[in-house]
Amino acid sequence: MIGATENRAAASRGRSIAERTCAACRQKAPSRDLLRMAQAPDGSLVPDLRRNLGGRGAHVCPTRKCIVHALKKHSFDRVFNTRVRYPNADDLLDSIKSSLFRNINTLLASGSASRFLCAGTDASRKCLNEGKAACMLLASDATERERFETQAKERSIPTRTLPSKNLLGTLTGRRPTGVVTIKDRGLADALIAVADRLEALY
Ligand SMILES: [Zn+2]
Repeated sequence: MIGATENRAAASRGRSIAERTCAACRQKAPSRDLLRMAQAPDGSLVPDLRRNLGGRGAHVCPTRKCIVHALKKHSFDRVFNTRVRYPNADDLLDSIKSSLFRNINTLLASGSASRFLCAGTDASRKCLNEGKAACMLLASDATERERFETQAKERSIPTRTLPSKNLLGTLTGRRPTGVVTIKDRGLADALIAVADRLEALY
C-alpha cells in the first residue's frame, strides 16, 4: 500500500514509481530493484524471479546479506501475515543463482547465434585488439584472467568474473573456457546486469 505522502512524491517526479520495502533492512526501493518472494500453496517461500506468481508478494534486497537476514529472522511472517515455511538459506540462494545462470546462458546463446561472441583466449585477444569488445566475462580460475582484466581496463571495457572455467564453458555451450568477449553493446549491458545480480548473492 502506497501512502499519500509517497503518492505526492511520485506525482511531483512526474510519474508513479512503485516502491516496496525490504523485509530485512526496511529500506524502500523501486520494486524492480528488489527480489519478489511468493508463497507456494504448501506455505513454502519461493523466489518469484519472473514476477508472475499470484497472491501476496514480499520483497527483499537481492543481496546475500538481506536474504539470509530475512530468513534467519523469519521476517516474511509479518508480510504474509502467516507462518511461512522457510527454506534453507543456501538452497534458496542456489536456486536464485541457478535461475540467473540460466539467464546468462540464454543471453550467451542468443549472442552466439548472432555472432556477437568471441569465446576463448585467442579469439578474445583478437577481438580486444581490433577494438570490437563491449565487455568480457572471465572465469575466476582462468590463467590469463589478470592480464585480460588489465587490458580491458586500459580500453575502458567492463569485465565481470564468473566462478569457474567449467561454468563459463557450460554457459557458452563449449568445453571449459576462461574468457568470453561480447561484441554487442546491448547484449553486454544485459549480461553485466545479470552478472551484478549474481555477484550480490555470493
Ligand atoms: Zn534490504
